[in-house]
Amino acid sequence: RRVTASQVRKALEHEVNPFTQEPHTPQYRDILEARKKLPVFLHMDEFFKVFNENQIIIIEGEPGSGKTTQIPQFVVYSDLPHNKGKIIACTQPRRITTVSAAKRVSEEMDVELGREVGYSIRFDDMTEPGTTFLKYMTDGKLLREAMNDPKLSCYSTIILDEAHQRTLATDILMSILKGLAKRRPDLKIIVMSATLDALKFQKYFSAPLIKIHGCAHPVEVFYTQEPEPDYVEAAIRTVLMIHRAEEPGDILLFLTGEQEIEDACRQIQLEAALDPNFFGPLTCIPLYSSLPSQQQKRVFDPPLPPKTPNGPPGRKVIVSTNIAETSLTIDGIVYVVDPGFEKQNVYHPRIRVNSLLVTPISKVSAKQRAGRAGRTRPGKCFRLYTEEDFISELEEESVPEMLRCSLAGTVLGLFKIGVKDLVRFDWVDSPAPEALLRALELLNHLGAIDTDGNLTALGSIMAEFPLDPQLSKVLVVSPEFRCSDEILTIAAMLSVPNVWLRPNNHRKKADAARAFYTNVDGDHMALLNVYNNYIQNQLDVSWAESHYLSAEVLAEAHNIREELMWMMERFEIELMSIADEKKRCLAIRQALCCGFFMQVAYKGDEMGNYITVKDNQVVQLHPCCGLRTQPQWVIFNDFILTTRPYIRTVTEVRAEWLLEYAPVYYDLTTFQDGKMKKALRKAAKKYIGRPNDADTEEHR
Ligand code: ADP
Ligand code: MG
Repeated sequence: RRVTASQVRKALEHEVNPFTQEPHTPQYRDILEARKKLPVFLHMDEFFKVFNENQIIIIEGEPGSGKTTQIPQFVVYSDLPHNKGKIIACTQPRRITTVSAAKRVSEEMDVELGREVGYSIRFDDMTEPGTTFLKYMTDGKLLREAMNDPKLSCYSTIILDEAHQRTLATDILMSILKGLAKRRPDLKIIVMSATLDALKFQKYFSAPLIKIHGCAHPVEVFYTQEPEPDYVEAAIRTVLMIHRAEEPGDILLFLTGEQEIEDACRQIQLEAALDPNFFGPLTCIPLYSSLPSQQQKRVFDPPLPPKTPNGPPGRKVIVSTNIAETSLTIDGIVYVVDPGFEKQNVYHPRIRVNSLLVTPISKVSAKQRAGRAGRTRPGKCFRLYTEEDFISELEEESVPEMLRCSLAGTVLGLFKIGVKDLVRFDWVDSPAPEALLRALELLNHLGAIDTDGNLTALGSIMAEFPLDPQLSKVLVVSPEFRCSDEILTIAAMLSVPNVWLRPNNHRKKADAARAFYTNVDGDHMALLNVYNNYIQNQLDVSWAESHYLSAEVLAEAHNIREELMWMMERFEIELMSIADEKKRCLAIRQALCCGFFMQVAYKGDEMGNYITVKDNQVVQLHPCCGLRTQPQWVIFNDFILTTRPYIRTVTEVRAEWLLEYAPVYYDLTTFQDGKMKKALRKAAKKYIGRPNDADTEEHR
């Protein structure tokens, strides 16, 4: 039986909700009227015709046309999956949009979130087995599921949304699904994109393309005459200028990260409050991934009413990361302020770590941003760069994550699902051979694959954990050091955003509170102490806040810890701890060495300069680092490039541990001559003949 658009339209108007058998609420009808106006809704006939006749289809439509919220619902009616016991999945690159889409769609369908419609993101599952038939999930989550069930047999339709963002996970999923389609003729696949990339996907899959024509209004674009030396300051000035001089309509400002956004919001709010009677009340709302979900919802609130009956109307200013570029559409935006930057995850091949860097956006991004101003009526976009720079400095399109990030985790995942030949793998865009080699080299050093390129038993377990291979390795080997209980906590704490709060007007107090947790043994121990204190205080929110710790982040770490603990149980990784405090600290640092021996720096001089091992990059300890001394050898978790290169979350280690737990990487016969080699050699002499020498192989 094939469902047609007219049948679906009839079903939507029905008195009774077909999924719950309850009568529809008035809210359902209100939202339905708004949905009917979405461009996607107007393409329903075409959708069912093409979807019924093809296994794979591509959909292209500008942001806000209704792809994320409507298409999965169309599929629900077409599939009637609740009759077949299968699930429709819709993937999103970001956690925040996964959750917000699921919430919105559960409202639109008049069902309870977590029942018929749910979501699943790393460490947080809001679905009910047997009941949920539409599941929004992150692309990373679906990729993990593919590792354990390569046929993805519980799904009837998989929708890859925001494919144009070209995240690593979505790219890999495209390759996997293309192969899987042949083995599962019953599986339907929809790839959705907001940009012209759709043509590329259409070719890759040889599938039909549905183009959703939006109703974009013209957007007038303004450039600055001169380059702006300080884009944040210029952005704030521009927002206030719009508020004072332009017609009513909300403003969307793009900035790069949490701190920048919070600071800008505060300043805009402050300056706008100086003359509220003359210029109407202004509400400034931040939007970034780590924002608590209750606050995220605020972006959809209407602007404030005028202060006096005939006064100027209120205005809403959203200050957002590039979440608002294509993933989340906020109605009512008429003005866009685009400084031209975003934060991108970039791999530094020399230091072998990923880090977030503020980088210029691409032309495609700039056009998307401008387009956000023309959703409801003609709008204006203020670009805070010159037209010459737009033409000559910005790249045409953004570089896919595949081509700029470390591939170690991805390659490990591919090995796990049985892909052996990485060169002949059907990539959407092939990564550079060096990037693949580097990933293989790292996995080999970690002991996840052997020298013939086969997955080892250790690697197979490492791949199960939703962590970077380095951290996975530490967790899996930690029982050998009898400190798996503590490493589990540290792994959870390394998987969440920054816990330390540092409000602008309380910086001194916050720093003092933080100093209380700093630990001579390093920042990893400080994270452990913070968590343990949080547990001792019964996960108390006010305790956390009075210690300048984010209760939200700690709660997340707690969840992650539970989840990881459950996984450890499943793989029979024992939870162990050492009673003696000194020995315990030592063991933890040794265990960390087993995974992070490639993220090591050596003290270069007395001025605080450190030099990274093998690649000789000069770095400094980040100002927030708790080490009071400058130890000879340290491992670090992050590399940050701001005014200068910093390493963050740093812990002291010993040369002999590096030699012991990573003998191949620290092979002195091939190690570069210099101070570091001398120090290692000295340590080697001391350490030869020590009783635990024989354990070396076992720890690798
Ligand atoms: P697309 O995926 O094509 O960008 P969406 O399906 O996300 O489009 O959005 C369709 C419409 O639904 C937009 O007008 C958007 O503003 C609205 N919308 C989405 N989520 C919410 C929400 N949580 N609250 C109110 N409106 C929403
Ligand atoms: Mg969308």
